[in-house]
Amino acid sequence: MKFCSVCGHEVQFVVPPGDNRPRYRCAQCGTIHYQNPTLVLGTIPVWGDRILLCRRAIEPRYGFWTLPAGFMENGETTAEGAQRETLEEAGANIALGEVFSMVDVPHVNQVHVFFRAELLDAHFAPGPDSLEVRLLAEDDIPWDSIAFRTVAQTLRWYFEDRRSGVHVMHTGAIRSASHRSAREA
Ligand code: ZN
Repeated sequence: MKFCSVCGHEVQFVVPPGDNRPRYRCAQCGTIHYQNPTLVLGTIPVWGDRILLCRRAIEPRYGFWTLPAGFMENGETTAEGAQRETLEEAGANIALGEVFSMVDVPHVNQVHVFFRAELLDAHFAPGPDSLEVRLLAEDDIPWDSIAFRTVAQTLRWYFEDRRSGVHVMHTGAIRSASHRSAREA
């Protein structure tokens, strides 16, 4: 951040009085522009023994496969956001279940949350962010072409649980691999 979004003056990156870490602070109007992690919400839409995956039509990771997911919007709940993203990216109507996984990605200041979901019918279609949407069995998952490590981890947990009959919520953290690009989660 270079300029204050309130008054347009240049900002400084300083520790404000009473704080313990540097913030972008406007030298003109004094506004402190806090920056905090963002939530990414997604679902694991299931139809029988198959999972709905989307092939991305946008960067980052154009052409790679992902669970339907995206950034939480202001004014919505996590459940509403997950449902909205599933409809926008996959054109899929779902019955939303419980939270399945929550994965911290501190090097990009994100937390990814995936909900269990069941497709209400087999009608789905790619939205503007997707090249195609497909139902895939475990053996057909393109593991080498999964867009994000949080998605690959969530899918691994899901299939492990299905084999073992376990039904728990999963948490974890994905750390930066050295020299990976900053926006890669
Ligand atoms: Zn200002």
